[in-house]
Amino acid sequence: MLDVRRIREDFPILSRTVHGKPLVYLDNAATTQKPRQVVAALAEFYERHNANVHRGVHTLSDEATALMDAARRKTAEFLHAPKPETVVFTRNTTESINLVAHSWGRKFVSAGDEILLTEMEHHSNLVPWQMLAKEKGARLRFIPVTEDGRLDLAAAPGLITAKTKLVAFTAASNALGTLNPVPGLIALAKSRGARTLVDAAQWTPHYPTDVASWDCDFLVFSAHKMMGPTGLGVLYAKEELLEAMDPFLGGGDMIERVSWEGFTPNVVPYKFEAGTPNIAAAAAFSAALDYLSRAGFAALHEHEAALTKRALEIFAEFPAATVYGPKEPGARGGIVSFNIEGVHPHDVGTAFDLEGVAVRAGHHCCQPLMGRLKVGGTARASFYLYNTMNEVEALGGALAKTAAFFKRPAGVK
Ligand code: PMP
Repeated sequence: MLDVRRIREDFPILSRTVHGKPLVYLDNAATTQKPRQVVAALAEFYERHNANVHRGVHTLSDEATALMDAARRKTAEFLHAPKPETVVFTRNTTESINLVAHSWGRKFVSAGDEILLTEMEHHSNLVPWQMLAKEKGARLRFIPVTEDGRLDLAAAPGLITAKTKLVAFTAASNALGTLNPVPGLIALAKSRGARTLVDAAQWTPHYPTDVASWDCDFLVFSAHKMMGPTGLGVLYAKEELLEAMDPFLGGGDMIERVSWEGFTPNVVPYKFEAGTPNIAAAAAFSAALDYLSRAGFAALHEHEAALTKRALEIFAEFPAATVYGPKEPGARGGIVSFNIEGVHPHDVGTAFDLEGVAVRAGHHCCQPLMGRLKVGGTARASFYLYNTMNEVEALGGALAKTAAFFKRPAGVK
């Protein structure tokens, strides 16, 4: 079991107030808070080791390089990746997907090819493919989402054709909380000879990830959603794919040799890391991974499942509230996306904020999915390891107050 009281001591921000109320931070799917250990690692880098990597033949540069290498090794271990070289550091999930669309897509996707996505993708895993499809004359297809917010898996096999080059899907939906059957989808894609990309932005913070046993081709996520700093993303890819792909951005570090006429790219993964990387963030991400491994995914999951179950019970008591996504707690992660009848989600967000409760409101970068659900947007509460049962009750309190405030007199539409 998680010692949440102890954990909260590592997050000074959680003891601040908002509008005179204790902060109840339930916007973890957008970004998580950072423990002291991560902030200390950032400060330690700048106070003791700051230098650029690779280029310097001096002690500080060696230390900075060692910190970056250590972060890459730790990330590879975390993912069960075969080699540190299969881990490319980017700015975020979005950049990782753009890298694949640019460097793999431009080379291996041609006119008439198909890319299979799902209807629950974040814009990050949609727009780069739209851009590629437009450029190449390729076609995007989508695994539909059912009424209760799951992937229509029965439809999936029929959507993979001989032309399907890639199946790219989210492991967990940021808008609905749905957990998708990652190994099954990968197996299906592989059986038809398609490559796979897993958007693990909402997965890696909460569940163990094993790219070796999943055997996915690409997997992407962001450090900031798992207690790490902003400005650091990860692309895992199979080594042979990284070798076959062309560079993404051009500049320093990604080259081996440059002449007036051209350049020879650097070895993997540096070929994809042009310019000065976010060294401080990488060092701090190591601290975040350590923190997560000390907490343990089993305990984390048990805790989040209990919070989510209670939140769903509270919502079920409010006829004016609609919760989106699968009904069974086992089919969803720690995200509760909801609307209150007759109240705009932004008003819900503002009303909750006045109670100190931070939730997200809007389309969650999933506009087509919102269209599918026939809503303009939703409010979304999302949990992490430092949230408490009392905070779930505070969420319920904010819900009751907001629903009562906006309740229309009988007969008024
Ligand atoms: N995919 C999913 C499923 C996400 O939840 C997010 C962040 N909301 C992203 C991609 C994009 O992450 P980032 O903004 O860190 O690039």
